[in-house]
Formats: sequence, C-alpha cells, structure tokens
Amino acid sequence: MENRYYHSTRGSGKLSPKEAVLRGIADDGGLYVWDGLEDVRLDLDALLKLDYQEMAKRLFAEVLWDYSEEELARCVDLAYTGKFDSEQITPLVMAGDLPVLELFHGPTSAFKDVALCMLPQLMSTALNGRKEKVMIVTATSGDTGKAALSGFQDAENIGITVFYPYGKVSDIQRLQMVCQQGENVRVCAIRGNFDDAQSGVKRLFHSAQAKAALDEDRIVLSSANSINIGRLVPQIVYYFAAYRQLLEAGAVQMGEEVNFCVPTGNFGNVLAGYYAKLMGLPVHRLIVAANENNVLEDFLNTGVYDRNRPFHQTISPSMDILISSNLERMLYYLSGKDSVKVAGWMKDLAEQGRYEVDAQTKEKIASLFLSASCDNAQTSAQIRSVYARCGYVMDPHTAVGAHVLEQLKDRLDGKVTVLLSTASPYKFTRDVLKALGEAQEGLDDFACMRKLEQLSKQQIPAGLYALKDMPERFADVISCEEMEEYVIAGAREILK
Ligand SMILES: *Cc1c(COP(=O)(O)O)cnc(C)c1O
Repeated sequence: MENRYYHSTRGSGKLSPKEAVLRGIADDGGLYVWDGLEDVRLDLDALLKLDYQEMAKRLFAEVLWDYSEEELARCVDLAYTGKFDSEQITPLVMAGDLPVLELFHGPTSAFKDVALCMLPQLMSTALNGRKEKVMIVTATSGDTGKAALSGFQDAENIGITVFYPYGKVSDIQRLQMVCQQGENVRVCAIRGNFDDAQSGVKRLFHSAQAKAALDEDRIVLSSANSINIGRLVPQIVYYFAAYRQLLEAGAVQMGEEVNFCVPTGNFGNVLAGYYAKLMGLPVHRLIVAANENNVLEDFLNTGVYDRNRPFHQTISPSMDILISSNLERMLYYLSGKDSVKVAGWMKDLAEQGRYEVDAQTKEKIASLFLSASCDNAQTSAQIRSVYARCGYVMDPHTAVGAHVLEQLKDRLDGKVTVLLSTASPYKFTRDVLKALGEAQEGLDDFACMRKLEQLSKQQIPAGLYALKDMPERFADVISCEEMEEYVIAGAREILK
C-alpha cells in the first residue's frame, strides 16, 4: 500500500492523509500528492445514485484513508448539513441552454465554502489526541479569506490569521472579513497585491525563526489555501454531483464524456476536476478560463509559464493571480510523476519567473485542456448578453467562463459542457449592475443589492445583507515584512 501515502511534488516525505492535512505544505516547498489516484476503482453506477453528502463520504474514504468511516460521516455532516441554502449543495441550473453548476450556496456565498466548510472538520479530527495547536495562515484575493474565517470560527485548538491586499478586494469582500465574529480570528491588510501576500505566507512557512518561536508553545502553522489537500479533496465531489444531476436531467447517458469550464485563479478548482477524471469520472476536456492575467492561457497553449508580465486589476479579482500554486500538482501527474523535473521547473520559476515544460508534457496538456481569456469589457458584455437572452444574472468570474466558452465553442467536440459558477452576483453587485447598464452611483452596496434582486429575481443571500448592521472589528494594515511578527504575536494571544 506504499502508494497510498502522500509525498511532496518535489519528492520528499511520506505522510498519511491526516498528517498531510495538518502540515498543509511540504518542507521542500512542494505540495502533497499521492500516486494512487488512477488506481481508485469506483462503482460509478452506485456512486452516482447518492446524494451530495453520501457521495462525499464515499469519495473521501478513497482519498483520505486514515480517517475512519465514522470520522468522515461526522465531518461531512458538520460541514454541509444545514449550512447551504440548496439541498443539492451545488445545484445545476440552466442559463438558457447552458448548464451552470452553482458553487456559491454556502454560508459566505463563495464557491470556496464547499471546501472550507470541510477543511476545519478534517483538521480538528486529525488534531484529536495530539498535543499541538494549529495557527492557520492564509493569503486571500478576496473570497478565500471570508470562507476560511467562517469555516474556522471558534474551532477548538485552531486559530486563523487572514491577510488580504489592501484596497484590492471589493467593499463587500472587505466587510465580510473585517466583520467576522469569533475569538480565534485575525484579519489584516498588507500593502501589496495578492501575489505579495501569498509569497509572504510562503516565506513564513519556511522560516526557521518562526518555527522555533511557535514550537515553544506547541503551535504549528498550517494553511487554508488550496495547497492543503483538505481543501482540494472536497472539491472533487461537486464534479461527480454535477454529473449525477446531468444524468437525472437526461442530459447525458451514463458513461458519456462531458467538458467542464472553470473560471481559474490558483488552479485548485480545475485541478479537482482533473482528480475526478483520474478517479474515473467521464471527463473529456477541462476548459481553463482566465481574465487579463492570462498566464495560464499562455502556459496551457504554449508550454511556457512566464509570470514576468504586468499585473492587471480586473472585475474578477479572485482570478487576479500570476502564480497558480496548484498547477504544480498537475505538472507532477502530467510529467509522469517526475519530481525531479517538477522541482527543476519550480526552481526556474522562483529564480527567473519562467519555465518551459518538455514536449511530452506539452502534448498531454494539449490533449486534456483548452484555455482562453477575456478582458473587463468582454466580461461585462457577457453578463449583459446572458441576462438579455435568458434573465440569468452571473457574477464577473462566471462571466469570464461563459465568454471563454463562446470563444471555444467549435472545439468542444460536441460534448455537453458544464460551466462552473464560482460566486454569487451579490458579491460583485456594483460591477454586475454596471454591466447590466443600471445606474448605481449614489447607491450604497445594500441598495445595489436590492436593485439587483429586482432584476435577477434571486434572493439576496442573508449573510451578505446582514453586513449592513455589523461592526467592523479589524483595521490593521502592515507591510509584507511585518507578517511574520504579526502571526507569531497573534498565535500567542489566541492559542495561549
Ligand atoms: C477562488 C476563486 C476562483 C479561482 O479558483 P481557483 O481554485 O483558485 O482556480 C474563481 N472565482 C472565484 C469567485 C473565486 O473565489
């Protein structure tokens, strides 16, 4: 059973799933993977009859094998039961003739809820019977932060610190974070962009000094970013859940391959789709949709990853990313599980901001992925045209996906294609109203929400509207150099 253990994409380590969940990222800078994914044999007929929760338990049992059946059942029930405003958890709806998998029905109206409701449960379970406490440190481009804060709020023996780029998240995203309740949470802005915040977090994880300081109090650092397998694995489930809903609607026959189009940033979401395929879900192509920060489009189409390019602030800010961490996992599998190659590419990336994969890996990428991108004007136009056509209002991230799908419509090989919707339009109300040609000057965010409600006929998520009357708790702004000190001080205070 050697290949059931997790190890780093760059080669080192041998960990059980629980250990990998607690550690988050490997000491050599790589991400945890395991080699047995393709060997999983699922009974698809049986699996695709289960509801979301039962399906999740079944899939987790394969991937997180050192969690007992009872532990997984408890984790899944705590994560999903009563927390989502759809019984399907991730409902598949039709926007005209386009199937859209809505991933935003969780407590913070972000697709990241699906994973971040589950990660704390997996982590608490893994901590059981151990003496350590965990400080979660996360960089966010907007949505992860709130979903993580909400997921970890008042979790036992776990604290959480969230860093976001000052001035680079939407007002509502900021409010969602700085109004977060809970005694074990800290929220702080940094001067810089998301990549700066993420690099700061990575430095912290590799800092011997921070480790020594926290060791004294038996505190270990971990991450809620999508580099943690406890974050990634829950995302596999909704690909299967989407397929089940397609079957139920009679849109596909059992075994028929489908495409998924994924608005992409850090590559966690689309990677989960790839994992679902490795585990046996009939997936034809994965379509990676990017905004103007189209480093992934260029990479998937040429094999050259080059982050040396201007950083654009867009109206789909959760995709404003130039270094997609989870791509490393895909490279591991597509290079034929060649840790040496992966480590070399990542070294080139760190030193030159650029790497090029070999011809074989390029070929594999080309056979599986399609990718395209669009700019802000095209994103807005897409929101408007979809609404005009069928009355469905999508958020800007989802609209990037919809636009890319239209660009690539001749390359879908006639397969049913599902668009993943990653945010509620209510999280980006102003930009959505603007796109729809509706005046919003002089209206506050909540008046904008009410206006959008009239247009979309979809209810405002209760958690968002409640921000109207909540006090702001966190106002800190620091430089990236101060992050380490900030986390250590916070950990000591929260986890004493
Ligand atoms: C996080 C996020 C994305 C990007 O997802 P990745 O898994 O990082 O690729 C896209 N859209 C929204 C709204 C997000 O919050």
